[in-house]
Formats: sequence, structure tokens, C-alpha cells
Amino acid sequence: MYAISAHGRVNTKARAVPSVVRSLDIHSGARVPFSVEFNPPRDADGEARLWRAVREFERMHPAFVSMTYGAGGSTKDRTVRITGQLAQQTTLVPVAHLTAVGHSVAELRALVGSYADRGIRNLLVLRGDPPGDPLGEWHSHPEGVEHAEELVRIVRDLGDFHVGVASFPQGHHRSPDLATDTEHLAAKLRAGAEYSITQMFFDVEHYLRLRDRVLRHDPVEGAKPIIPELMPITSLRTVRRAVELSGRELPAAVLRRLHRAAGDGPQENRAAVRSAGIEIATEMAQRLIAEGAPCLHFITLNFAKATTEVLTNLGYRVTAAPLSA
Ligand code: FAD
Repeated sequence: MYAISAHGRVNTKARAVPSVVRSLDIHSGARVPFSVEFNPPRDADGEARLWRAVREFERMHPAFVSMTYGAGGSTKDRTVRITGQLAQQTTLVPVAHLTAVGHSVAELRALVGSYADRGIRNLLVLRGDPPGDPLGEWHSHPEGVEHAEELVRIVRDLGDFHVGVASFPQGHHRSPDLATDTEHLAAKLRAGAEYSITQMFFDVEHYLRLRDRVLRHDPVEGAKPIIPELMPITSLRTVRRAVELSGRELPAAVLRRLHRAAGDGPQENRAAVRSAGIEIATEMAQRLIAEGAPCLHFITLNFAKATTEVLTNLGYRVTAAPLSA
């Protein structure tokens, strides 16, 4: 069991795992750091696949790796166990996503405690979406939190945790307008978040406008890293579903390019779609690097190949670990 001190704070184990922001520093050299996102596997085969991807990425020294959290915590125990193994059995810096869906504050505190117990100090704090239909109506747990900002405060009060939050290049789909959305992001950062990771996007202009908006709104909070999230497209169906769930649309130019690659035949030309997807992600990454993005965060769906192809296109190689890591 995790230990809570007399002050009601979780005792995080003393362990030399840097914060995400520190790790970005350590990994900033000739190349912009990169990081990857994994999902909790559903079964033993999925778990074996995840570990193959983990070992593949480990050789390329990402600044951090993040593990998503299933809606309503349906795979909670497995997620906590595997994220703990990432902390204990690899050289990686793991970030556990923590969502408020279906949890009381007491349960959320216990969950943070079990992460701390396994040596995890970096948490990406999110509200989450309604299980089943992410775009459906949001109802908070009767003893839970309404917004991520509250959860950021709770986690920060619990102990020495490093917190990141979500940001939305086109605004969150429930926000009435971009100004309100910006204020809510700034509030999460003011509450103690050290950086944000964006929702995936396919138009770099959206990321650049978000960065400008937050900086204009609050020069102090706006200076914190905004890490862009990229998804190398490997199939039309997968990207359509992912974009639909985010409440956004694929830009027309990207869609045209993918449709051209897919061809007019009865079967989608999957190899051509995949190579167009890798090309699109590579071009976006090049522009983001040129624009000074602090890191490139890749959605991997627990496969290493597409992301490592993009990284190879960008000139990243298997290297020795950074000296100060
Ligand atoms: P919030 O910051 O609470 O915002 C939700 C809505 O409420 C927004 O419209 C916001 O503008 C508004 N709002 C915020 N604060 C206030 C306030 N004080 N008063 C009034 N309105 C307010 N989901 C998962 O289930 N598991 C995951 O692992 C996961 N990982 C993600 C990783 C990233 C990088 C991103 C971008 C999203 C992820 N999500 C995940 C999805 C995320 O949970 C949803 O997008 C969710 O709808 C919003 O979460 P949030 O933390 O931004 O919520």
C-alpha cells in the first residue's frame, strides 16, 4: 500500500526519475526531443506487442512515454501495473494519464497513491470523456471533480508530482469559443501544471495559433511548453475514427491527399495511404521543429514502426543515452 503522511500527502518514493520538463531539457541537443503515447493493452498478445514497441523506442531515447487511461478505469489494474513496470524495468520516463471519469475524489487519491508507490511522479491530468460516447453529455461523479483544473490542485496537494494537462489547438469541442478555451487552459497551468500536450491535429497553423493565443492571454503560463501531438496515419479508417472521437474534422487538403493515395478501386490501397500518412507526419514534424516546438509527441497505438519511420525521415537514429539522463 502507498503511504500517506500525517499531512495527508502521498510519500513519493525517492527515485531518480526526472520531471517531463527536466527530461525535455536533458534531451534537448542536436535534435528536438520526441516522446510517445501508449495505450493499455487489452490482453496478453496486446501486452507482448506493447513491450516490443517499448523496447524499440527505448533504443531511441524518447524524453518520456505516456500511458493513456481507459474511460471509467475499466482496465485500471493492468494500466497501473504496466505503467509501474515502465518505471521499474526500463530506462524510460513514464507519464501516467489520470482521468476523473467515474471516480470519486477518494478513489482518485488512492489511484495517485498506487502510481506513486510504483515510482511514477509524472501525471497527465485530464477530466476524461463520458464512457461509451465521448461526445455525449458529461456528468461528473457525485463525489468527483467537474473539471481537470480541480484535479490538478488535488494531485499537487498530494505530493511531489509533476503535472501536465491537455490543450486543444482548435479549442475543446465543448468550449463556447477560443477565448474561453484559452482561459481554461491558462487556469489549469496556473493551478500547477508544468506543460500541456495537445490534442492531435493535422494543420500546423492550428498549433501555432494556440501557442500565440495562450502567450498573449498569459505571458507567464503561455511560456510553459505546449507539446504537439502527432498521429502518423496508417489507415483511413483508423484516422477517421480517431478524429471523429475528438469532435474535430480532418482538414480537406489532408483528406484529398489520403483519398488520392487510397485510389478509386473497390479496395483502399493501404500501402499508399500508409506512405502518404508517414509523409504528412514527417512534413508536419519538420514544420513544427522549424517553428520551435519543444518536443514531438507521437500517438503509436502500441506499434513502433510508423513512428520510427517518421523519426528516421527526420534524421533521428538509435543513439547512446543523453549524458545527464
Ligand atoms: P477540462 O480541462 O476539464 O475541460 C473540459 C471542458 O470544460 C472544456 O470545454 C473546457 O474549456 C471546460 N472547462 C475547463 N475548466 C472549466 C471551468 N473551470 N469552468 C467551466 N468550464 C471549464 N481521455 C481519456 O479518457 N483517457 C486518456 O488517457 C486521455 N488522454 C488524453 C491526452 C491528451 C494529450 C488529450 C489532448 C486528451 C486526452 N483525453 C483522454 C481526452 C480528454 O479527457 C478529453 O478531451 C476531455 O473532454 C477534456 O479533458 P480536459 O482534461 O481538457 O478537461
